[in-house]
Amino acid sequence: MLTSAFSGSLFVVAAPSGAGKSTLVNALLAQEPGIKLSISTTTRPPRPGEQDGREYHFTTAEDFVARADRGEFLEWAEVHGNYYGTSRLTVEQEMKTGTDILLEIDWQGARQVRKQFPDAAGIFILPPSIAALEERLHKRGTDEPHIITRRLLAAGGEIAHAPEFEYAIINEEFNVALSELQAIVKATRSRFAQQAARNASLFAQLGIHVQQPQS
Ligand code: 5GP
Repeated sequence: MLTSAFSGSLFVVAAPSGAGKSTLVNALLAQEPGIKLSISTTTRPPRPGEQDGREYHFTTAEDFVARADRGEFLEWAEVHGNYYGTSRLTVEQEMKTGTDILLEIDWQGARQVRKQFPDAAGIFILPPSIAALEERLHKRGTDEPHIITRRLLAAGGEIAHAPEFEYAIINEEFNVALSELQAIVKATRSRFAQQAARNASLFAQLGIHVQQPQS
């Protein structure tokens, strides 16, 4: 059994727009202070009420591409016509110090993360029906109608990649979905390699020897 190079766990949460992902994730974060949401960098313009450095780090396409070329992103992708990426340095630093990190990213990014962090827990949030998805997108009211249409079309594309994820949560009853998400977090934290990385001296005292990873 190998221990992990990182004592923090990595969670990757994906969903089609309108599945209620952000509300669920925010409720999880409010109850689990040990998890931090990674703030992505994007070339999408801020929506009303969004603040630079809070929802996203907003930047230009030119700056984004330069950073991607320098390898600064753990993963990045073009989603709905804009670039989105996750800072490699921030995620790795936090995970080394034992903080659990949650990435709210699309399936393309999740694929890139899985290659580099095979132990990352991949969670896909599904809407209870297509009608519910449409209704949530309209109710949000923060985007122009043509953007909503584009996102609805994209939702089908995102859902097609749900089988690549380890866990599926159907967001019908909010509290049920939240408790399922919490259960996944608890199970992931209890994995042997994570426990060994987090409690190295206890494991040594108990005479449990775990292999250190190569790098
Ligand atoms: P929104 O513009 O509605 O905030 O996000 C649109 C989509 O981009 C969502 O599916 C979201 O998960 C995805 N996204 C946000 N940040 C990232 C990121 O850093 N990387 C990738 N690959 N996708 C992201």
